Amino acid sequence: MPITRLSDLADKAQCPLLVLKVGSALLVGKEGVRREWLAGLVAEIAEARARGQRVIVVSSGAIALGAATLGLDKGGRGSLADAQAAAAVGQIALSGLWAELLGSHGLIAAQMLLTLDDLEDRRRYLNVTATLTRLLDAGAVPVVNENDSVATQEIRFGDNDRLAARVAQAAQASAVMLLSDIDGLYDRHPREAGARMIPVVEGVTAQVHAMASAESNSGMGSGGMVSKLQAAEIAELAGICLVIGNGQHDRPVARIAGQGMQGGIGDGVGTLFLPRRKAGVRGGSKRAWLGGRLRLKGTLVVDAGAAAALSRGSSLLAKGISMVEGVFERGDPVAIHDEQGRVLAHGLSEYDAAECAAIRGLHSSDQAAVLGYAPRSSVVHRDQLVMKGLTP
Ligand code: GLU
Repeated sequence: MPITRLSDLADKAQCPLLVLKVGSALLVGKEGVRREWLAGLVAEIAEARARGQRVIVVSSGAIALGAATLGLDKGGRGSLADAQAAAAVGQIALSGLWAELLGSHGLIAAQMLLTLDDLEDRRRYLNVTATLTRLLDAGAVPVVNENDSVATQEIRFGDNDRLAARVAQAAQASAVMLLSDIDGLYDRHPREAGARMIPVVEGVTAQVHAMASAESNSGMGSGGMVSKLQAAEIAELAGICLVIGNGQHDRPVARIAGQGMQGGIGDGVGTLFLPRRKAGVRGGSKRAWLGGRLRLKGTLVVDAGAAAALSRGSSLLAKGISMVEGVFERGDPVAIHDEQGRVLAHGLSEYDAAECAAIRGLHSSDQAAVLGYAPRSSVVHRDQLVMKGLTP
């Protein structure tokens, strides 16, 4: 049964595996770690486990905590070197805290520190899947963060929202809950008069993106609504639900899932992003992994005719390619853009960049002469292609 409402998040049958992302501002206050708040959250994790749900935690806070300990300004985000040093100091304390608090409920914490490449490289991604699965089978609670002390600008997620969505995908979770300092997605800046919270989003369209404000509310983490919507898109492609909810309240998970104090189910509070059924995992998890990739090796720009054909489910033919950008090999992941620069799809290229450039615009009957061998049926086969929402 797919998840259709917030209360399903507390249901073992609907949501057997929940990824819970905890933002920095919730974990770290002016006085350092917000231990009491965290103890409350860990009690809720223990309740979920007692109900028979599995939980993976994605915990931010290493940089904020380390910066407080080292006395670094700008929350440790003044420079990359500061962030890396702060993370190294903060992470050790953070891991210890999770282990201690989970341990007080008889739960075993398992720390995993990941970089972007661990999830972008297919082989390493499958390795992460195997480790998470083994840990969950063994009854542990994985606590994941980005490996900030080694991740440099080009190779980092930079925010734990998208990391949480990718982890959910790798672990084949049922839902991701992003605990933040805001109740959900508002139709305009939440401080503007008349701003209304959106309870359910089906498909992160350009209109939904327009609602997000780029600034993070707390200035402590690096997320903000923009990265939360990107996370929702990754989850959507993987057929996974995502919820943005407020972690500032007592028993935040129960509040978001609408569970009353007596365990009764009422209306939850949060924005629930449902995967678009049609855009979901048709074609399996490899396509979802491809669609959620953040970095691609190159870009194929296609004309309007090819764009229309792609949206009808066709493969990409050389005839429709107007431009080739980047350096990539056969089999590498590429983005497919329309001539206005909008991302239409991600796919695996059947040719390297030079071959693509040589045959672009050509009918298949004219390609053999250029290539020196019989051409393949397409440049990106429909089975190796995932359509994206039209995000600018
Ligand atoms: N990985 C960062 C940390 O532990 C947090 C990233 C974020 O703010 O989302 O401090």
